[in-house]
Amino acid sequence: MHPSDFYNDRKFCEHCQTYVSYLQSTEHSFCVQCGRPVRLFSEADWTAFNDNLKERRPKGGRPSRARERGRESA
Ligand SMILES: [Zn+2]
Repeated sequence: MHPSDFYNDRKFCEHCQTYVSYLQSTEHSFCVQCGRPVRLFSEADWTAFNDNLKERRPKGGRPSRARERGRESA
């Protein structure tokens, strides 16, 4: 394992307002600094990410519930 992998694997903590190292549990990830749940992207990055997705999707797409199911299950 390369130490750099650890630093690449970060998520955004709304409480700390920065990308942080996190602890992975079965369903959620938690900030190692404050212990609160972290998200994959900051809000701005998330918006950009979704805009990017929308543009790439064909017209007529509807909101999908698959994201609830599609996650890795234990
Ligand atoms: Zn935090």
